[in-house]
Amino acid sequence: MVDSSARGIGSTVLGYPRIGPRRELKRALEQYWSGALDAPGLRKVARQLRLDTWSDLAGRGLDSVPSNTFSYYDQVLDTALLFDAIPQRYRDLGLTGLDTYFAMARGHAEVGALELTKWFDTNYHYLVPEIGADTKFTLVGDKPIAEYQEARSAGVETRPVLLGPVTFLLLSKGVDGFVPLDALDSLVDCYASLLGQLAAAGVAWVQLDEPAFVADRSDAELAALGRVYSRLAGLSRRPQLLVAGYFGEFGPALPVLAETAVEGIAVDLVAGAGAVSQIPLIPGLRSKTLVAGVVDGRNIWRTDLRTAASTCARLRDAVGDIAVSTSCSLQHVPYDLAAETSLDPSVAARLAFARQKVDEVVSLGKDASIVAPEGVGRVRRDLDVRARIAALRPEDRRRVAYPDRAAAQAARLGLPPLATTTIGSFPQTSDIRKARADLRTGQLGEADYEGRMRAEIERVIRLQEDLGLDVLVHGEPERNDMVQYFGELLAGFAFTDNGWVQSYGSRCVRPPILHGDVSRPAPMTVPWATYAQSLTSRPVKGMLTGPVTILAWSFVRDDQPLGVTADQVALALRDEIRDLEAAGIGIIQVDEPALRELLPLRAEDRQAYLDWAVNAFRLATAGAAPSTQIHTHLCYSEFGDVIKAIDGLDADVTTIEAARSKMEVLADLATIGYHRGVGPGVYDIHSPRIPNTDEMADLLRAAVEAVPASRVWANPDCGLKTRNYTEVEPALRHLVKAAQRVRASL
Ligand code: GLN
Ligand code: ZN
Repeated sequence: MVDSSARGIGSTVLGYPRIGPRRELKRALEQYWSGALDAPGLRKVARQLRLDTWSDLAGRGLDSVPSNTFSYYDQVLDTALLFDAIPQRYRDLGLTGLDTYFAMARGHAEVGALELTKWFDTNYHYLVPEIGADTKFTLVGDKPIAEYQEARSAGVETRPVLLGPVTFLLLSKGVDGFVPLDALDSLVDCYASLLGQLAAAGVAWVQLDEPAFVADRSDAELAALGRVYSRLAGLSRRPQLLVAGYFGEFGPALPVLAETAVEGIAVDLVAGAGAVSQIPLIPGLRSKTLVAGVVDGRNIWRTDLRTAASTCARLRDAVGDIAVSTSCSLQHVPYDLAAETSLDPSVAARLAFARQKVDEVVSLGKDASIVAPEGVGRVRRDLDVRARIAALRPEDRRRVAYPDRAAAQAARLGLPPLATTTIGSFPQTSDIRKARADLRTGQLGEADYEGRMRAEIERVIRLQEDLGLDVLVHGEPERNDMVQYFGELLAGFAFTDNGWVQSYGSRCVRPPILHGDVSRPAPMTVPWATYAQSLTSRPVKGMLTGPVTILAWSFVRDDQPLGVTADQVALALRDEIRDLEAAGIGIIQVDEPALRELLPLRAEDRQAYLDWAVNAFRLATAGAAPSTQIHTHLCYSEFGDVIKAIDGLDADVTTIEAARSKMEVLADLATIGYHRGVGPGVYDIHSPRIPNTDEMADLLRAAVEAVPASRVWANPDCGLKTRNYTEVEPALRHLVKAAQRVRASL
């Protein structure tokens, strides 16, 4: 047994938010980028945020406070710069260190930014390092050491957090066929020097994050993990090493790490609860500190302290020493529940944000046997919804066979082959945004607001008629965000005033809190859709957000399976579709851009997820009449494991991104026998570039070679809300012309 008082970790968190409790860093960054703040000014704001965080964490009683969890933009980018992994095109800009960093994050003049992608299965996004044969890793930075010293000068002893070398390379992208993991040895040399320097600076513990190992990994990758940590643990001058895995179970990586001489291993016992039974079976853990992540770092519910304490108690005998922690960094939850004054008290009573979670960890760490009484508020229950869920039958998720639906829809809609449409939103002008903001603050009355929105809808309808589009949309001017809009109109959701979470860089989101049974007190989109349809004889497409996407971009309840929550949302959407149909809307799109985002990290968990996700979508849509055409929209084209699910959704038309990948997705859809309508995007809306008629016609020609023209739609890749009219108008004009041209040649 290791003497925990001499060397233990006690209570800790794996990381902390850094954007600032009032988004101070966001504002400072944006001022710096616009030239309104200079570099020393930005550094001052950053330093103050770090000092405030350390003193708060230490003051609340954490035994071990993390450092190097601050970032100006992203911790993966920080790691790339620490080891000099800077692609030549950024070096050539000749900028200062800080501006090179921001050039990699955001692009500079002609040089684009590094690719941005999702951090595992969270809504945080990291910048993808580029590693090639000419990348020469060198320890050039001192951020972890400088921040350690900064904290120490302020009287707080900290545990620097580093992204582990194996995960860093697994998250990187190889340039010109280079395999990043082939550079592991030289990168580990740099980590070895860094550990030496940290030890010399007085650091007692270092945390190395290896979350890539909660996903499926090859034997070679597992062996590399073992090799790296055996080597680092064998260094003569180094701090004690804590290797952290989160967002799931370490699984086979756990015995590999247990065999190395690292002193500590942090496991996620929330997303990876199976580790509780695995840990006692691994003898190597008996000599190590186990950092038990029993407080959920990703969700906002109060911890059931009794259960958490008993989990720790169960593990205590199986390991050398136990410390209490969050399951992952707290960067995925908002700072402080105390900043919320307008939340329903019965909802607030169930919540814990980052600061409250620190208190939970501290109280669990002090004496796990004496924990505060539960006092957790009650979930909003809706017996009608529960009864409906209980009474669901398989046929509630089934429509009549597609050929019959297709015939009924063709007869009703009479659309040409290569029918033209858009994905839903039109550019959101500053006038529209202002009207929405003024409604919120009360500066604009309901009736005036409605008048503004109607005027905008009319304008957008007239524009689409003028452009010659076949299926119109109302343009979504009334929507701030495709999930928040519905959350605000559904019962069972709550919204925060300050609950910001970093999405990437300075961009933050305030996810809705899905806290109780979901129901729809009143129609949500019907008046807008009906008004739009009243203006034109062409079909107007109703526009809804699907159940999976609503869950993916909210904090969701953890007291029932996600599939049940998704079904509750689906029932609300099903009712909305019924009301839209009754109002004469013949085409309804249910967006599911997040379908792939929730895909579990381990392959063995994927089918169960896809089953409930697909089922919820079908529950939402299967009540529609055969003559109602159901569309869905997915934002990407690399489906991988999800491709079969697209067929499972059973939508009549699926619109997807395809412009950049040159229609490749059509071949993928063919392999699964997809035989319904498809709208491969021919206009890449993520770029300000205006595509010309020829190139869109070429893409459409490629499409009709792969799929019969009667099933092909001509549309952009995604919604138009982030573009402006000077781009959108000509682009859509070209799109309509391209469709007409290809139609004529059929
Ligand atoms: N209907 C939405 C829009 O057009 C879809 C957005 C999305 O796919 N993310 O804005
Ligand atoms: Zn999209």
